[in-house]
Amino acid sequence: MVDKNTASFMRSLCMGQIEEDIILPFPEIPASEKETLRGVISSLEQLLGKRDEQFRKWDRSGEFPPEFVDELRQFGLFGLVIPEDHGGLGFGSAAYSRTLQEVASYDASVAVTVDAHSSIGMRGLLLFGSAEQRAAYYGKLATGEMIAAFCLTEPGSGSDAASIKTTAVRDGDDWILNGNKLWITNGGIADFFTVFAKTGKADDRGHLSAFIVTRDMAGVSSGPHEDKMGIRASSTTTVHLDNVRVPHKNLLGEEGKGFKVAMMILNSGRTGLGGGSVGGMKRLIRLATEQAKGRVQFGKPISEYGLIKQKVGQMVVDCYATEAVVSMVAGFIDQGYKEYAVEAAISKVFASEALNRTADEALQIAGGNGYMCDYPYERMVRDSRINRIFEGTNEILRLFIALTAMNDVGQNLRELAKSLEGVFVDPIKGFGVLSEYALRRAALATGINREGTTFTRLHPALKPQALLFEEGTRDMASAVDRILRKHGRNIIDKQFATRRLGDIMVDLFVASSVLSRVDAALRARGPEKCAHELEIAQTFSAQAKKRIRHNVSEIDANEDEQIKSLADHAFEAEKFPWDTL
Ligand SMILES: Cc1cc2nc3c(=O)[nH]c(=O)nc-3n(C[C@H](O)[C@H](O)[C@H](O)COP(=O)(O)OP(=O)(O)OC[C@H]3O[C@@H](n4cnc5c(N)ncnc54)[C@H](O)[C@@H]3O)c2cc1C
Repeated sequence: MVDKNTASFMRSLCMGQIEEDIILPFPEIPASEKETLRGVISSLEQLLGKRDEQFRKWDRSGEFPPEFVDELRQFGLFGLVIPEDHGGLGFGSAAYSRTLQEVASYDASVAVTVDAHSSIGMRGLLLFGSAEQRAAYYGKLATGEMIAAFCLTEPGSGSDAASIKTTAVRDGDDWILNGNKLWITNGGIADFFTVFAKTGKADDRGHLSAFIVTRDMAGVSSGPHEDKMGIRASSTTTVHLDNVRVPHKNLLGEEGKGFKVAMMILNSGRTGLGGGSVGGMKRLIRLATEQAKGRVQFGKPISEYGLIKQKVGQMVVDCYATEAVVSMVAGFIDQGYKEYAVEAAISKVFASEALNRTADEALQIAGGNGYMCDYPYERMVRDSRINRIFEGTNEILRLFIALTAMNDVGQNLRELAKSLEGVFVDPIKGFGVLSEYALRRAALATGINREGTTFTRLHPALKPQALLFEEGTRDMASAVDRILRKHGRNIIDKQFATRRLGDIMVDLFVASSVLSRVDAALRARGPEKCAHELEIAQTFSAQAKKRIRHNVSEIDANEDEQIKSLADHAFEAEKFPWDTL
């Protein structure tokens, strides 16, 4: 029986355990929400369909007109995740993510506006709000009378969130907030701000707290609309807090636990960004296939050429895999799992990069047209780029994914070392205490199947892919062992190695999500009707396996030292140091 408070598919996998019960069967959108979701999706078509010209114009002008934001409010787009008894739709993560998918397939700026409100802006209230706080704000947030924003980043503090300088100082029943927040999505249209501030001593790094701040509080202001590369119509501004008096009852979560609050908000909200990425990819596949079939060169539609098929086929695999991994994480959240941070981070990394690849290749298929502003491709390339930067950069997330695994394994190795202490004094007794972990490790190293190290419940048609996955798991175990043995506690500074493990973990979790999704399809429709889904499983598993092998092989044989030396050389010169002239 899986304990949803502690179970994590990837953290178990790093210990050599394939916890099938966590990922099988593939999660479905709850039946109770499907009907409403269908209604929302068809009404969205009326709200956002046939507006392409306007979206293009607003991308150019770099702003939505206020009347359009009013239309989003009237539609109820700001109430997606707010409970029904407070006027929202009460969607769980899967239905929410599916809605964002639909919104993003029309326009990324609209999707980001909704995402910043529901995924991060008001999510702290959803996760940590007191009954009083919820009663005070849910209603207004559901109608969009209040739009929400998440205020963490500052001029001197981006990835290193613990280093923020905004302060909150207790004054009687209030807190006085001072500081400046940077690049806040919805900053110009929001009335509800989840603000992170330092509540510890000046040198007490990381002692943050979260507060609900509203625009009507004296001293709150936002700067001008930022001119940016993509998602241009979405509002991005600075937010300033100048001696803002915030009542103590607006503290969100526990005092001093603000860093945890911020991370839990970001983890829980990742299915919004993921859903948006899937929506963008589906639209790009529609555009690219239509374009390729209509464009004739050398006497044939370019869709008939292998190099174009290669791009479109890969887009399909990427899109299916992204939808699988995002749905899997949404399913974890909806089923009440608590430890899904690593999996959510993986879904964000994979989704944002798959969307980027797809947008780039779709533009390439459109050739010169793709580069022209009359076509949607260049805008979609620009719009998609932000996903690798915000809500945690993909570099930081890769480090987080891999370091969590190594920390877990490191702890187990320490326990293992402890249990082996007496082994030479009393070998028999020593073997008796060999932990479950050590036995699984031995099984993984030797390739001998032990309970829990193989798939047993996947559809038989997926047997070859299950074997590839199990091999990948063994590769990962050997990668973790080798990296830990090589670098030990210095691992924190060994980012080349950590990135490799991060990539391996991304591949394994996405592969497991694909297998689970195809398994569900096979069971529902039978292998004859799932030929293409089987091809996706075959392709993704084989591609992932090759990438994993490559990453493992690079742990010992690589050019890391040369690359580092060249980087240092460039840093020193602050330019490319050679010239042919
Ligand atoms: C359009 C837009 C909207 C945004 N919306 C919001 C919002 O609503 N709320 C909010 O709070 N913030 C928001 N942000 C801020 C965003 O979350 C940050 O930009 C992001 O966290 C990265 O911080 P940074 O830009 O300061 O980059 P930095 O942290 O300075 O990083 C620069 C580069 O260095 C890398 N890097 C940093 N540290 C390390 C390390 N230890 N090891 C290896 N590499 C490292 C990063 O991955 C990145 O590639 C938004 C940003 C943009 C552009």
